[in-house]
Amino acid sequence: MDWPIPFDELVAVLRSAGAPASGQATVRHSSMCYGCGEANPDGLRLDIYAGEGVGACTTLSADWRLAGDENFIRPGILAAAVHEVADHALQQTGLLASVVNVKVDFPEPVPVGALVRIGARVIGAFRNRVYVDVTANILDGDKPVGSALAIFECEA
Ligand SMILES: [Zn+2]
Repeated sequence: MDWPIPFDELVAVLRSAGAPASGQATVRHSSMCYGCGEANPDGLRLDIYAGEGVGACTTLSADWRLAGDENFIRPGILAAAVHEVADHALQQTGLLASVVNVKVDFPEPVPVGALVRIGARVIGAFRNRVYVDVTANILDGDKPVGSALAIFECEA
């Protein structure tokens, strides 16, 4: 990834004491959240789980509701899911921060009907910014369909 990450300056960010254990469900933003809300009829309704370290993961079902043309889902929908999982990874830190940038590469299209595994991991902080790395792969596939960096800015 050729994005500007101050790797030499990053400091570790730890899980908060109250964060769910790896494999346990993370806390939904609201029942109507477009990403994780279980009651939003038009949303992605992602079930998101705490990952290893300071991270989160989910499986996106690329159903027909997400379709664009040529039987592939819209990359912007995948970007929304990537942002959602990055946000849940940040949630594991207990930090109050707002997203200021999400950059996503789409190396391969996602066919309708695929299951996409999305994993996010907090890679560190520099000054008031927290950096989260996200990858998306088709389940049982060997090629990534998404690679992303999300940057959050902590509230003063
Ligand atoms: Zn949400």
